[in-house]
Amino acid sequence: MARAAKQDNNSEIIDGVIYARYSEGPNQTEASIEGQVRECKEYAKRNGIRIINVYSDSKHTGTNDNRAEFQKMLRDSRRGGFSVVVVWKIDRFGRNRAEMAQNKALLKLQGVKVVSAKEYIPDSPEGIILESVLEGMAEYYSANLSQNIKRGMKENALHCKSNGSGKSLGYIVDKDGYFEIEPNEATIVKTIFQKYDEGMKIADIWREIVASGAKTKRGKDFTQYGISRVLSNRAYIGEYRYGDIVTPGGMPRIIDDDLFNRVQERRALSKKAPASRRSNSDVDFLLTGKVFCGHCKGTMRGMSGTSKTGRKFYYYACHDKISKHNKCTKKNVKKEWLETEVTRITRDDILNKETIEFIADRVVEIQRLEQEDKSMLRYYEQQLRDTQSAINNIMKAIEAGIITSSTKSRLFELEEQKSIIEGEIEREKITTPVIEKEQVIFSLERFFGGDINNKEYQRNIIDMFVNKVILYDNKIIITYNISSQNEISVDVVEQAAFAALDECSSKLSLAPPAGA
Ligand SMILES: [Zn+2]
Repeated sequence: MARAAKQDNNSEIIDGVIYARYSEGPNQTEASIEGQVRECKEYAKRNGIRIINVYSDSKHTGTNDNRAEFQKMLRDSRRGGFSVVVVWKIDRFGRNRAEMAQNKALLKLQGVKVVSAKEYIPDSPEGIILESVLEGMAEYYSANLSQNIKRGMKENALHCKSNGSGKSLGYIVDKDGYFEIEPNEATIVKTIFQKYDEGMKIADIWREIVASGAKTKRGKDFTQYGISRVLSNRAYIGEYRYGDIVTPGGMPRIIDDDLFNRVQERRALSKKAPASRRSNSDVDFLLTGKVFCGHCKGTMRGMSGTSKTGRKFYYYACHDKISKHNKCTKKNVKKEWLETEVTRITRDDILNKETIEFIADRVVEIQRLEQEDKSMLRYYEQQLRDTQSAINNIMKAIEAGIITSSTKSRLFELEEQKSIIEGEIEREKITTPVIEKEQVIFSLERFFGGDINNKEYQRNIIDMFVNKVILYDNKIIITYNISSQNEISVDVVEQAAFAALDECSSKLSLAPPAGA
């Protein structure tokens, strides 16, 4: 029997990166960065995220800026290229909730989402809501902040000056902020254009460039993606670009128009040739990581298929069922239906004055506990004492005349360590402002009576309040981030949830009823 529709069994692939950090201190439980990265990779695999880069900061890099890779990840996020950051635990993202929220909000402005590989079980479920409230505020502040920054950058752009980030290969910036040609890099740019114009493939050019030992601006090996970006960079024909400001002749030219245009034509042709699959889906599965199969307790994943009329449709499917085992009988569930339904149940049955009052009290309490938690401070103070006594011992040895080159370098090492610890102590002493109960209530009340079909509303409700959704064929169990009311069970009229899925595939409609 012919299939009624093509079920391509392709999860939507999302490009993501991993951020891992070793943080010292009493709360550190995972010893190695490798361990974190491994778990993040497993998480990514389960959730259809393709990892394109890994950033990791180890404890001491010998400088005071021991989060260099984190900053790099933030910078890279501005150029696009990935839409998810996978972290092992969300506490890798800042030393307190306010800092985490600020960083998450910065990424959110670039359309990048942060997910954690470890299932998030906070001490108090309201902690998640507090984070969301903080995030909302941080987002507001960074939006304002970026307005001011933008003004300055626009000024620069009108004068064809550098705005700091995203300097192209081939250029340096002089002391006044204007672009100049860097001859060695410009030669690499010319070579890439000429070879491509001669008919070489990007992969072959890449191999040659890497073999020649040439490095990128950051001193790393080129990637194929990097090569293809060089080929489409209009700076090389002298075009200055910043946002929507475009100034022909605003940059020193490296490539002539004829060569540039020939290369663009060939690129346009080669792009059309293969069945190019957009990797970054514009479809966002709001319940990713939160939805589980009631039959086998496994995760359910966002999937897509194409109906016989050529229309794309989206649904959640049990991971076990779509994997090779194929044992689980859980029916697929329409994405649109599920997300709207979960939003509706939450809005109508959970969000009320009483719940919000309860949440606000808990949120204020969590903040108070966090402010009182001085364990990190005590930890660093102990470290400082240990380091100081080690320094004293070496000083005694020096006074006693025992000096070798290794004593000397050990002393430098300890002095360096001491200044790092002192910096950490200063940072720990800065207290973060507390959000008042009224502010929390105000920011949550805006969710009363929202439009359950609005995507942004669905996203806010699900991110903030929903902890877990367990799907059976005849009911849904939703658990919430609110300890007073943390579970709700709703019977499903099967017609509504699953009937429309019959078009997904003939195989589906032939599946035996669950539990039969
Ligand atoms: Zn299952």
